[in-house]
Formats: sequence, C-alpha cells, structure tokens
Amino acid sequence: MIYCVEDEKNIRELLVYTLSGSGFEAKGLSNGKELKKALKEEIPELILLDIMLPGEDGYAVLEYLKGRPDTRDVPVIMVTAKEEEDDKVRGLEGGADDFITKPFGMMEFLARIKAVLRRSKKQEQPKEYHCRGLTVDVKSRKVWDEDRSVDLTLKEFELLRYLLENRGTVLSREKILEKIWGYEIYGETRTVDVHIRTLRQKLGKSGSLIETVRGVGYRIGEEE
Ligand code: CA
Repeated sequence: MIYCVEDEKNIRELLVYTLSGSGFEAKGLSNGKELKKALKEEIPELILLDIMLPGEDGYAVLEYLKGRPDTRDVPVIMVTAKEEEDDKVRGLEGGADDFITKPFGMMEFLARIKAVLRRSKKQEQPKEYHCRGLTVDVKSRKVWDEDRSVDLTLKEFELLRYLLENRGTVLSREKILEKIWGYEIYGETRTVDVHIRTLRQKLGKSGSLIETVRGVGYRIGEEE
C-alpha cells in the first residue's frame, strides 16, 4: 500500500491512477489529517508527501511520522512544486528518503518509487526473533515465553523489539525513551524502568534475558 498525500485533486488522482496501473495498491489522501486517520487502518509501505498542504504542511507531517514508532521506518518521498534546494535539505534532514519535483514524468516517478522500495526492503528487519526460550513474531506482534503466549501492550512490545534489534548491545534509558516514546515525553527515564519491570514480569522465565547494566541502561542476550 502506498499513500499519496496531496491536496490538488488532479495530481492526487493521477498519482493513484499511475500507481494502480503499475500494480501497486495506492490510496489518495488530501491532507495530514486524512493521513493520520488512514494510519489507524493500515501502515503503508511508502508515503508520497506533498510539502504545500492545507493545515499541517509536509514537514510537520514528516516530523509526526518520524516521531511515531510504527511509522518512523516507513519511507517517505517528498513532493515539491519547485526546484527549491532549501526544501530538499529540510526534507532530507527531517528523514525523507527522496524528493520529486513537480511537474514530473510518470516514468521517473515510478522509477523513484521502485528505488526507494527496494532500498527499504533490503533494510527490513527479521520477522521473528529467538532468544533462548523467547520467541517474538514481529508481524503478528505475538510473543511466547517457551510455549506460553504473552500479552504485551504496544509500548512493551516496541521496547522488547528494540532490545532484540540491538541484541547484545547496552541501550541507555535516554536512547530507549527517544526511540520508543519519541516526542511524547522528555527526560522521564523512569518510564523506561517501569516498563522494563512489567515487561520482565510478563515474560516470566524469559524476563531474565533482559539485563540491567548499572548506571547505563538495559541489554538483552549476549552476542552469540
Ligand atoms: Ca499542494
């Protein structure tokens, strides 16, 4: 699924039409508000984001996407009306993956989309993690401590996944806070400790895999 966030109806329809004609599933959305609503239904593989939008502009929407744990890794291609170097720099610094300048040819447009999708697929995280008795299925968000299924909240799951992505590495409380809670809270590192505690309890036997590194933070499993 590709979301096309563009307020100009003609362009939006053309984008969706072109993508659909090339075998992609695409949905047109006219502003940031509609995008946020759509994200509740489905997290897309890619987002095309116009800069000049009514309400929140493309940069604000980009910042929002990068601050959300479940959307921060979704590639974003910014769409800009003019060849503005400043726009490009600002967008790329904000985490955009590429830029398309209007007006653009449909062949170039499709080539850029395919290139970004290829790059993001290469970086895809493993779908399952195993660490002694612990099994985590990322896609279905299911977790097992040996054969016992464990129910985790979204934050607990993200926290566990972040530890597993960095298996064997000590992660500081600040880093965890920034990655999992993003812009929601600042400096409340105690939040991390509280979530680690409940995560350990819920994981039961596997909870002991999460190691406290005094004065620094947390780590899961030694490098094998
Ligand atoms: Ca626009």
